[in-house]
Amino acid sequence: MEMTLSTSLSQQVIDLEDRYGAHNYHPLPVVLSRGEGTLVWDVEGKRYFDFLSAYSAVSQGHCHPRIVGAMIEQAQRLTLTSRAFYNDQLGVCEKFLCEFFGYDKVLMMNAGVEGGETALKLARKWAYKVKGVPQNQAKMVFAEGNFWGRTLAAISSSNDASSTNDFGPLLPGYLQVLYNDLPALETLFKTDPTIAGFMVEPIQGEAGVVVPDAGYLRGVRDLCTQYNVLFIADEVQTGIGRTGRRLACDHENVKPDLLVLGKALSGGIMPVSAVLANNEIMLLLKPGEHGSTYGGNPLACAVTVAALQVVEDERLPENAEPMGQIFRDRMNALRAKSDLVTLVRGKGLLNAIEIASRPAFGDQTAWELCLRFRDNGLLCKPTHGDKIRFAPPLVITEEQMHEACDIIERTVLAF
Ligand code: PLP
Repeated sequence: MEMTLSTSLSQQVIDLEDRYGAHNYHPLPVVLSRGEGTLVWDVEGKRYFDFLSAYSAVSQGHCHPRIVGAMIEQAQRLTLTSRAFYNDQLGVCEKFLCEFFGYDKVLMMNAGVEGGETALKLARKWAYKVKGVPQNQAKMVFAEGNFWGRTLAAISSSNDASSTNDFGPLLPGYLQVLYNDLPALETLFKTDPTIAGFMVEPIQGEAGVVVPDAGYLRGVRDLCTQYNVLFIADEVQTGIGRTGRRLACDHENVKPDLLVLGKALSGGIMPVSAVLANNEIMLLLKPGEHGSTYGGNPLACAVTVAALQVVEDERLPENAEPMGQIFRDRMNALRAKSDLVTLVRGKGLLNAIEIASRPAFGDQTAWELCLRFRDNGLLCKPTHGDKIRFAPPLVITEEQMHEACDIIERTVLAF
């Protein structure tokens, strides 16, 4: 018997959120209650491929047993001490992170946006203490189209009106440069000696999976070195195997001065972010100058070590690369068959397709298509109107990838 939406359990849950929760999101109408690997199930028991992975956080797959196991084990012993005392997990996790990513030091926080903010504070301090910028004059450069969160420091770098409208005044000391434009970056660096750092995503995720030209990251690295500006890589979304390498910067063998990680650092289990840097930058921070009650808590540390061990042991970057290739090949073949798909782009398992608008749906065409993907058992969401991001867990198998591509193809052709 088919239940109508108005009486379904899903609808009751949606109504509850609508009634009691702030309306700061517009979720796709599907109510999930269970996940395993690449798959999630809604409250009515319907199964879906998760092709969003909580915006690339659930890279290790939903409820990975090793990560959940580490969490339960640690949760039964000690969860939070604050940094007022030492705990027996933080040093172990810090050593693991430093060796895994090749830096002297790490600073752990919680949300990705706190990682970005930590990096900016470090860069400002470096500008005053090392570069010799006069107090309160340090500038930060950001690429147009960037997204790194929702705090005031983060939205101050945004050019998206829905992020900034009615939230002013924004932070001063921010400069913008076109993404993927090295000459413009050099002009800025040349004309302003107060620039502390350039924070950039190796692939712009929220902007619609914008992949810069080959050589861009190398060029950024060289310009930052040449003009004594810190290169801050925001790998919150692109890092930890997502693009087919451990870090997206690895594609061009470049090492940022400050590396910001989040999301998949915990495999989608809890908010964990981290900033990595070498001693000459990280040791500028003295006790009492930065921190967080939950940052570096023992539970997060145990989960993080387990989550990264899974990335290594299951060779997730090595899987992301060929699975992403299959996805893009299948989508390009689909593009040849349907004028609804106008562009396919991405790296590893961070991909997007661009959707032509259909008169019946106008600028809601991509949204409408996502509703039909949902009906056919695949979850994803539009980003920036006409683009749909596809970022499944990195544990996806070849068979699952083809099954998911079959759903996408069938849905697009029937649209
Ligand atoms: N940086 C990038 C590139 C992101 O995509 C995001 C979130 O989507 C963030 C930072 C912020 O992370 P969080 O939402 O955990 O604060």
